[in-house]
Amino acid sequence: MTKFTDLGLNPDILKAVADTGYDTPTAIQEQAIPIALIGLDVLGIAQTGTGKTAAFTLPMIEKLASGRSRARMPRAIVLAPTRELADQVAEAFEKYAKYCKLNWALLIGGVSMADQVAKLDKGVDVLIATPGRLLDLFERSKVMLNGVQLMVVDEADRMLDMGFIPDIERIFKLTPPSRQTLFFSATMPPEITRLTEQ
Ligand code: AMP
Repeated sequence: MTKFTDLGLNPDILKAVADTGYDTPTAIQEQAIPIALIGLDVLGIAQTGTGKTAAFTLPMIEKLASGRSRARMPRAIVLAPTRELADQVAEAFEKYAKYCKLNWALLIGGVSMADQVAKLDKGVDVLIATPGRLLDLFERSKVMLNGVQLMVVDEADRMLDMGFIPDIERIFKLTPPSRQTLFFSATMPPEITRLTEQ
């Protein structure tokens, strides 16, 4: 049986995973993590509860571990459809990156922009964002997306239900074509297939 230690993750990440008590990766983790680590795009069809958050958070931490953040230039973005989901991703990030020197900001609507802007100014490695708030801050020139190396789209089918697909397409175009994409959806309706083909 595959263990977390077989997946190619660095010791700081493995220590954080061990602290959670998990030693066996779930199916989506076992399949997605090695592919993401070699730099390929991932299309993961996975429901909530399958461990998909760690399937994208762990390789993202590994990829960002070498390198530094710059003011207003995040190196990775995770797009989530709701505040609750963005919060869950942030929690996972906090848990798995605790031995790595990475920082993150949560950009969600309904809370003060001032704190989010202050954090962006200091420099963040990862933005965990809902699409509307991210675009809002971009339009106000508070964040630049041309340094993004890795972009995660979580729960794409819920993004579709909530009307976020045009926002996601816009965000894709604002990031460098060379960025790696990790894309997760529980189902694959035609609109989502079309988006992944782009
Ligand atoms: P998710 O599908 O990402 O929402 O994760 C569902 C739950 O499974 C979360 O509470 C995780 O902490 C937990 N989890 C993630 N990976 C594993 C694993 N390899 N073994 C056991 N539980 C896990």
